[in-house]
Parts: sequence; C-alpha cells; structure tokens
Amino acid sequence: MDLKDRIKTLSNQFSEEIIGVRRHLHANPELSFEEYNTANYIREFLGKLPIDQTDEMATTGTVAIIKGKNPDRKIVALRADIDALPILEKNTAPYKSTNEGVMHACGHDVHTSSLLGVAKILCALKNEFEGTVKLIFQPGEEKLPGGASLMIKEGVLTNPSPKSLFGQHVMPLLPAGTVGFRPGMYMASADEIYVTVTGQGGHAAMPETLVDPIVVTAYIITALQQVVSRMASPKIPSVLSFGDIEGKGATNVIPSEVKLKGTFRTLNEEWRMEAHAKMKKMAEGIAESMGATCDFNIMKGYPFLANDEQLTNRSKSWAEEFLGKDKVVDLDIWMAAEDFAFYSHHIDSCFYRLGTRNDAKGITSGVHTPTFDIDESALELGVGLMTWLALKELTI
Ligand SMILES: [Zn+2]
Ligand SMILES: [Zn+2]
Repeated sequence: MDLKDRIKTLSNQFSEEIIGVRRHLHANPELSFEEYNTANYIREFLGKLPIDQTDEMATTGTVAIIKGKNPDRKIVALRADIDALPILEKNTAPYKSTNEGVMHACGHDVHTSSLLGVAKILCALKNEFEGTVKLIFQPGEEKLPGGASLMIKEGVLTNPSPKSLFGQHVMPLLPAGTVGFRPGMYMASADEIYVTVTGQGGHAAMPETLVDPIVVTAYIITALQQVVSRMASPKIPSVLSFGDIEGKGATNVIPSEVKLKGTFRTLNEEWRMEAHAKMKKMAEGIAESMGATCDFNIMKGYPFLANDEQLTNRSKSWAEEFLGKDKVVDLDIWMAAEDFAFYSHHIDSCFYRLGTRNDAKGITSGVHTPTFDIDESALELGVGLMTWLALKELTI
C-alpha cells in the first residue's frame, strides 16, 4: 500500500476516536490563556503515544516532537490553536458546551483533535518517513497579544528549528470534503482603536457656551474614512470600522466626553504604521480646531498573514493528489486576523482551510456565532490531509 493509502486507512481507522476527542473538547471549552484542563487533556493523550519529546510552553501550550528515521534531515511543524470564545452556545447537540458562556465557536476543538489524530498516525508511521515533525498546540489565539507571539518568544521555532509550518482552520463557507488554499497575502493585520474626545458639556440649549464632543466625534469619524479612501493606495486593501460609540448625554444634555472604539485592518506593514500616524494626527487636529481634545490610542494586534507562495502552491497540488482536483478550491483574501500570522513573518508558512459546511444537515452557521458547528465527517479529512502535507513536505 502506498503512503497516501496508508494515511487514508489510518485516518479512517482513528476517525471515531478523534470525533470523540473533538466532542470532549467541545463540551469542555476554556477561554484564551486559561486552557488548563485542555492542556492536561492534550498532554495525557500524547503521553500514551511513543512521542520523542514533549515540552510545555507559554503555560498552557504544548510542543510534541515525533522523529522518523534520519530525524535531522528536515523538520516540519504543524500548529493547532486550543482556546475557545466567550459565547453562550445555542446548539442542543449532546456534546454542547458544559462551561456556560464559553464555546468552541471558532473550531479550535477541531484543530486540536485533528492534530492529536495526526500525532497518532505519525507515531504509527515512524519507520516509514525520514525527518522530524513538531506539533504545536498553542493557547490564546483569540486574545491579544496572541498565544503565537508568546510561543515564538519562548522559542517554539528553535531547538529544533522547523523549515516550514502548516496551520489548518475550519471554514463553514466550504462544504465538508473540500479544502481551500491561497498563496501569498491571505489575512489582514488588525489593530484596535480607542478614542476619547473631551469637550465642555452642559445644557443642550446653549451650545455657544459649550464644546460639543458629539459633533467633534462625528467629524472625526467621517474624516478618518479619508485615510482609507484617499490616502491608502488602491492596491493595498484597508478597512477602518468603528463599532462602538458612547456619549452619555440626553436629548437636552451635551456630555463632556465621547468614547469611540474601532478596528483598522490592512495588508502592508509600512502602510499600517503610516496610517496609524495619519489617523492620530487627523483626529487630534480636528478636535483642536473645534476646541476639544482627543486622546487617540491604537493597540497593535496581529500582523498580516502571508502564505509562502512556493510552499502553498506545492501543498495545494499535494492536496489535489490526496483528495482530487475538484475538492480543492482557491481562497480569496479575508480581512479577518489570525495570530498564525506571527509565525508567517518568521518561517515559510501555509495556513489553509478545512471545509466543514453541510447544507443538507443544516450546518451553515459562521464562526464566532452561538450556533456554529461542523459536519464531523470533515475531521477524518483534516487528520489525513495534515499528515499527508507534513510527510510530503519532509520528502523535498
Ligand atoms: Zn476565531
Ligand atoms: Zn480561529
């Protein structure tokens, strides 16, 4: 039996167990950087396998090393994120969250269980591949500063240093049984914006004696769109959205303060920094010209995510070999952010998507919604494909 069929047979053989693992994780979700039971579960699972080395990192992170023959020949890394979101689950499945208000609504239970399945297959195939596979179970993807940045600081990309890295993420837009790839720029940087405009509140009937921060803020919101529409190069996607505004006056009271929160996203690091400076200058200038003051703060989030062109192109053709051409699709740029991006600035990376949708079963909800779920048939493919990509990458 060739390697591809060996992997398919093993992923099929382990699929029931991995579905059970996913259900256990789904029922027991934990928030970012608080994944203590999840980490214990992962470590116990790995402890039953002939793993060569297991290290704890960033408190709830785990790194496992599986060596094949000639282990120094090449090292490839695979990453899964393990945290859940502060969402109250509305699904009624028997494996629904038992931790009220916390939910695996981004599929990180799927990523973790898939990678545990990969560990099982790699251990079973230890004598059939050359090189080393490093498995990264990373905490805190959903919360700044991002578990990936902490894992990198603690040396996850060294000792030993992998040559390339794969990350798999669920995608409810794609039907189960399919996967998607995009070489090059894929996801955006995302920064949080916090603005406070301060004026002189008072009776709404006497504006001439006041400085109205509501009107000043309205100008700032409108003017800042110029940064995206006139100052950004049309060749660089940029988004500026404000999703929260608070000015606690009344119909007849002008407040002294307005607070504004938003997000800025783009795909170019130089422009990202330039845009921060332009937004700050513009907001402060408008406030000053109208007699108000503006405190403009940006909390830097994740950088853009760029998939290595060559690695992603060859991975796509390996996926076609594994699944059939019609099951592999091209992805568009997506302006969401993901902390896998940090790795992609250090190492050749490929972040690809695993389809989890099933219209016939009514499984269509997006990630980060209280009704998100997956067609669990996707797990067998998730396990098999990730193993296949790692082993193919080790051969070149
Ligand atoms: Zn998410
Ligand atoms: Zn996610």
